Amino acid sequence: MIIGGGFAGINLAKTLKNAPVDILMLDKHNYHTFQPLLYQVAMGAIAADSIAFPIRRIFTYQDNFSYCLAYVQQINPENNTVTTTIGDVHYDYLVVATGSNTNFFGNKQIEQFAMPMKNVPEALNLRGLVLQHLEKATVAQNPEERAALMTFVVVGGGPTGVELSGALAEMRRLILQKDYHGLSRDDMRVYLVEGKDRLLAAMSEGASQKAKQYLSAIDVMIYNSVHVQSYDGLELKIDDGMMIKTRNVFWAAGVMGEVPKGMEKATVLPRTSRIQVDETNCVKGYKNIFAIGDVASMSTADYPNGHPGVAPAAIQQGQWLAKNLMHIINNEPTEPFKYRDKGTLATIGRNKAVADIGKLHFQGFFAWLLWGFVHIMSLAGFSSKLSVFLSWGIKYFTKNSDNRLIIRNFNVVTRTVDPEQ
Ligand SMILES: Cc1cc2nc3c(=O)[nH]c(=O)nc-3n(C[C@H](O)[C@H](O)[C@H](O)COP(=O)(O)OP(=O)(O)OC[C@H]3O[C@@H](n4cnc5c(N)ncnc54)[C@H](O)[C@@H]3O)c2cc1C
Repeated sequence: MIIGGGFAGINLAKTLKNAPVDILMLDKHNYHTFQPLLYQVAMGAIAADSIAFPIRRIFTYQDNFSYCLAYVQQINPENNTVTTTIGDVHYDYLVVATGSNTNFFGNKQIEQFAMPMKNVPEALNLRGLVLQHLEKATVAQNPEERAALMTFVVVGGGPTGVELSGALAEMRRLILQKDYHGLSRDDMRVYLVEGKDRLLAAMSEGASQKAKQYLSAIDVMIYNSVHVQSYDGLELKIDDGMMIKTRNVFWAAGVMGEVPKGMEKATVLPRTSRIQVDETNCVKGYKNIFAIGDVASMSTADYPNGHPGVAPAAIQQGQWLAKNLMHIINNEPTEPFKYRDKGTLATIGRNKAVADIGKLHFQGFFAWLLWGFVHIMSLAGFSSKLSVFLSWGIKYFTKNSDNRLIIRNFNVVTRTVDPEQ
């Protein structure tokens, strides 16, 4: 049984295609999400459907695979079952591939008002909110309220924060005056707030500096070495004493493992909330429960704090575990997981990206082309690849997009959507 059809779970199941095992995958969504392009859905650059692919469709031709739409509420290791929204289900071997969720570091007020972006519904909420606020700004009588509606603060200067703030700045530069007559480019402000002293801290120094330079050139206001203290829906307070009045705070400042309840013997690391696993991804304390991807933390000589929470690590752990599971079932020795770092890419608005691939560090247009190619090729399914390619092509030449739709009106206070509002 695999809980989670993300990068890790999907690749585990695919690698077991010809193995003499029965695979049951449970996921609370009936689709696999390509999270790296969520920010483009949130910015209306591409349609939500093009980054989500039905799990059943991925496995049409795999006879040893079945899937159920179910939310796993609890694992019961004492009788090898999981309790889910469709009842209790038995497993022989369990693989937890539940990914991660947004980490608000325990600040309930920020959690109430800031916008996370970890899945398709959240990206659509974010898209709705941005567009609703621009609509409200066009008719706002009070200049202070208009300024708050048009001030956007992205918290977290990792790849997601950098890409999101770059996309907001591009929206201001290319779309605002064209489509929102009456609103001025100068009225829309984009801030990027990061606790560390540089952006893209997991990348090379050169990539960090270039990202900062690219963002500054499109007027993103960057604040490093500061932390958000509070946000009440209007006033965002920062620990250097600064206060920004804004109706839009987008939280890309951290993630934590999404650990299902019930694994009492497992060690869940306090800072990252990831489950400690050994070098075969077996959850410490159990013999037939494994964890892979974002939810797992495997401490090795090269990665003492666990592997990075990125798609290649999840994919490789899924593929590697498939082989080890067969070794375990056949009573053969297992092989410790080895991670191959394929490099990191981050894009900053139109035509620009930064890339660290092994010892190669490069930036600019070529990095941007590579970023586009890698992302298109990594999407599940031909239709998604084609759809994203066409959307990007149209967007590139028209400098506009047709996906800026408020289909579900999002209320940030009640956290609900209301299509009629
Ligand atoms: C906005 C964003 C941008 C990113 N950009 C990049 C990037 O550019 N490059 C990169 O390499 N990585 C990027 N990442 C990280 C990458 O997406 C993750 O590392 C990867 O998705 C982890 O894969 P996973 O299989 O562990 O988890 P996920 O892909 O998160 O999948 C987990 C699955 O488990 C399911 N699930 C969770 N809990 C339950 C439950 N209790 N019951 C049933 N189902 C459950 C979920 O529905 C989901 O389908 C980004 C992440 C985000 C959020």
